[in-house]
This record gives sequence, C-alpha cells and structure tokens, in this order.
Amino acid sequence: MIDKLAGEPRLRVALQKSGKLSEGSIELLNKCNFNLHPLKNHYLIHSRELNTDFLMVRDDDIPGFIDSRVCDIGIIGENLFVEYQLSGRNQNVEIISRLKFAHCRLSIAVTVDGLIKTIADLNGKTIATSYPAILKDYLYKNNISANIIVMHGSVELAPKIGIAQAVCDLVSTGTTLKENGLIELAVLLESEAVLVGHRECTSDVQSIIRELDFRFQSVIKAKNKKYIMLHIEKAKLGLLKDILPGCEAPTILELHGYPDKVVVHVVSEDTLFWNTITNLKKIGASSILSIAIEKMMD
Ligand code: ATP
Ligand code: ZN
Repeated sequence: MIDKLAGEPRLRVALQKSGKLSEGSIELLNKCNFNLHPLKNHYLIHSRELNTDFLMVRDDDIPGFIDSRVCDIGIIGENLFVEYQLSGRNQNVEIISRLKFAHCRLSIAVTVDGLIKTIADLNGKTIATSYPAILKDYLYKNNISANIIVMHGSVELAPKIGIAQAVCDLVSTGTTLKENGLIELAVLLESEAVLVGHRECTSDVQSIIRELDFRFQSVIKAKNKKYIMLHIEKAKLGLLKDILPGCEAPTILELHGYPDKVVVHVVSEDTLFWNTITNLKKIGASSILSIAIEKMMD
C-alpha cells in the first residue's frame, strides 16, 4: 500500500483483535521494536516502526483481506489457513513463516461413554465443527460418510445438546473436552500461528516484509535459549556435550592463574535448565552464569 501523504510505501498487517492469537502476536511484535498497546476501540494502529499499519480484526476475516489485497500480511492459525485453502476460496494466500506460538490441534472427539470407538463408527453420524472443509477432506480420505453441521462457537456443547454425536474442534490441553465429557478420537491437523501474505506480493512492501520476518525469526530463535558461561577443568570438557543440549561449538577461553581450567561460553537450550545445572555441578563446573537471550541472528 502507498501512503498518499508521505508518498512512501506502508505495510498493512492484519492481526486478531481479541482472542487466542492476539496476545502472542502483540508480544512478538513488541519484541521486534513495535510499541503496541491496543485498546478496545483501536481498529487501526499506525506505527512509525517499519512504516507499518495494523488492522485489528476477527481472525476469520484475515485470509480474505489478504486475498483481496486489503492487507499485505497477517497472523493467523495454520488451521484457519488450511480451512481457507480447502474451502476453495483461496488460491493466493501463502504461508511466509511459522511463528512458534498458539500451538493446538484439530481433533475429532466423541462422548466418553458413547458408542463411537473408532473412526469407522462415524459412518452415518453427525459431526459439529467450525472447520467443515478440513473435516470433509478427512472424511473423504478415510472413506467415511457422515453429516457435517457448522457451528461458529461452543462446538464442544453439540453432543450435550443433542445436535451431533461427535465434534471436530481445536484442542490444546484437552481440558475443555474433558469438562464436556469428550475424548479425542483422531487428530486431523497440528497447528501454530503463521505469518501469511499474498502469493504475488507488491514489490513496494516486499523489503519491509522481509525485514519484519527477519526480526520475527531472530526473536523466535532466541526463545528457550540461554547463554551459559562457566569454569571447568580442561579434562572434563568432553563431558559437556552430553550435559548441555545444543552445545555444538562452545567458545573456550584461558582462565588466568588456573592452567588446568578453562572458561566456556555456550548457547544452550533452556528446557531442562535446573537438571542441567545439577549435572554441570556433578562434573565440577563452577562460576556458572546463565543469561536470557533476546535475539539470535545468523
Ligand atoms: P475471533 O473472534 O477473532 O473470530 P475465534 O473465537 O475464532 O476468534 P480463538 O478462539 O481466539 O478464535 O482462536 C484463534 C486461533 O488461535 C485458532 O484459530 C487457533 O489457531 C488458535 N487456538 C485456538 N485455541 C487455542 C488454544 N487453546 N491454545 C492455543 N491456540 C489456540
Ligand atoms: Zn474466528
């Protein structure tokens, strides 16, 4: 999009206004130097950073906005992207990159004490879902003939209120299913937040998109990583690889006054951190420092 006043290209980004993608999207953007604090009545936010404007909308509208070039890019769940593609509406929206948040899966679930035990038992039954195209595709591929009813919310209540014998809904921890007496029967799709754009992106905003995605990936790469510094005997260096996940190429420095020891600097995965510290101590590591990493660039 060209800003008529300044004559400079401006990037239009569509974000979910409120819901399970909003917080993660804003958090990611703010780590990339955007200072966004959207209020309830903010639908369009102009940012000086990278000449970017944000449109705050329902997630369902985002693929269509990109398809029709109302927006250049957007953040949606992969589940919505696939649904849009399979519904035949889109030939122009594509995934630019994966954003590693809002992980969930689309699953078929049935009542715990019901008669449906296998997917073959779904033959002739009714399934409620907000994702009819993905479900239709799955049923077709598995040679199952079932009725689909479309609901745009509270899908998990469908069996309880007697309008379907099964649901096809998004699951993350499974708590909502459990609370409604449902159990997962099959996973149709694993999903996470994705950055999407138009297949034929206009050249005036292409460089801004590249820069934005470079920043996203730098922040994502640093997630769950720690910069670790420690002292250790030279003889024990070989043991470090097994203890520090991702420790492929540590920096090793001399430690003045201690010829048998060295200083090790390394970037490591953070997921098992306290266990890692215990194991490091066991092999005699000392002066251990662990620092959170904000961004990582190649
Ligand atoms: P809107 O009002 O914008 O239409 P919505 O009710 O359709 O919102 P949300 O429930 O906010 O949508 O979910 C948005 C997206 O977040 C989903 O499409 C999915 O990709 C992801 N998502 C859904 N549930 C979860 C969950 N429990 N954990 C993580 N991500 C989820
Ligand atoms: Zn929605």
